[in-house]
Amino acid sequence: TQEFSVSNRNPIHGKMGRVPVGIGRRRMRIVVTGGAGFVGSHLVDKLIGRGDEVIVIDNFFTGRKENVVHLFGNPRFELIRHDVVEPILLEVDQIYHLACPASPTNVMGTLNMLGLAKRVGARFLLTSTSEVYGDPLQHPQKETYWGNVNPIGERSCYDEGKRTAETLTMDYHRGDGVEVRIARIFNTYGPRMCLDDGRVVSNFVAQAIRKQPMSVYGDGKQTRSFQYVSDLVDGLVALMEGEHIGPFNLGNPGEFTMLELAEVVKDTIDPSATIEYKPNTADDPHMRKPDISKAKELLNWEPKIPLREGLPLMVNDFRNRILNEDEGKGA
Ligand code: NAD
Ligand code: UDP
Ligand code: UDP
Repeated sequence: TQEFSVSNRNPIHGKMGRVPVGIGRRRMRIVVTGGAGFVGSHLVDKLIGRGDEVIVIDNFFTGRKENVVHLFGNPRFELIRHDVVEPILLEVDQIYHLACPASPTNVMGTLNMLGLAKRVGARFLLTSTSEVYGDPLQHPQKETYWGNVNPIGERSCYDEGKRTAETLTMDYHRGDGVEVRIARIFNTYGPRMCLDDGRVVSNFVAQAIRKQPMSVYGDGKQTRSFQYVSDLVDGLVALMEGEHIGPFNLGNPGEFTMLELAEVVKDTIDPSATIEYKPNTADDPHMRKPDISKAKELLNWEPKIPLREGLPLMVNDFRNRILNEDEGKGA
């Protein structure tokens, strides 16, 4: 039987008609920009797993082929090495836009993906960030809060880039009728996370495995809320498939100081692990915790995996990669 055919218009959305996969759903062709990255590769696994066709656009700036190598050879998977700062022509139903160089080119990539969504009538999902709230004066943060961002600070390139990306997304929705979705993602961790991009969870876990002291910045009393990656992926898909634009906070409301996080890593990996204090970066948000009532009510979504259950799930992956690195160095 023919698995896939192009007709006129997809009854769900977009211009790409498909015959059904399973009951009540049609196979879709979905772009995931940044799909070779940490979050993107888990999202791709889920979409492929439920029977859709996935095109990953990635320039491997921070992502790795290893994250998607298990999908090579799958006829429903395609990997394009491409920088989203350059325009691209594709025919697709949905676009998950995760690619995000930590620089102003963020804005150009978002513009191109919105242009693509407009041309083909695809639904577009932006992965924004809790950083749009800056160093928040409201706690926990609700989606209605406009944030407290220093426009000229060290972190502002990322924060303001995402704020601009949200603005563009809403402008394409209002001006051009593009179907859009906005997720504000809070700190997320899990297997395949970049080993060396300096995030606190990856740093502490890698340090504990390497028997190095865990680097606590500042007094370690600042707070964050850590979400396991599968919870985030479920939230992203619920948002894309649902009827609400957002923005939606997607995060785990469990709140930890960095000292508490170090304790959990210690309990999970090595009871003899130690910490060392290092100077903190400028404008570091003092606290962060999502109010997720909106996502609970409208997306019927909430995270299921608390930190103490999620951390052990990334340890094997980290151990293996650290071991391979050491072998690579001839150690
Ligand atoms: P990641 O760095 O692992 O993934 C980003 C991917 O985008 C990488 O594979 C990278 O190679 C690719 N990329 C970067 N620039 C590109 C370009 N110009 N063209 C094509 N590909 C490009 O990061 P992640 O943690 O998976 O984050 C995914 C998205 O979620 C990002 O938009 C990020 O801002 C957002 N987010 C993540 C977190 C988190 O805690 N992980 C929190 C808030 C928001
Ligand atoms: N774009 C793209 N793929 C498409 C359609 C548009 O990459 O299939 C890019 C296009 O090159 C432009 C951006 O998206 O840089 C915005 O497109 P839009 O049509 O909204 O803007 P315009 O070209 O009218 O300025
Ligand atoms: N942090 C830390 N040690 C590290 C890396 C980060 O104590 O090795 C702190 C950092 O100062 C911040 C928090 O952990 O207060 C979260 O930092 P991360 O870069 O992971 O995420 P973000 O600042 O984007 O929330």
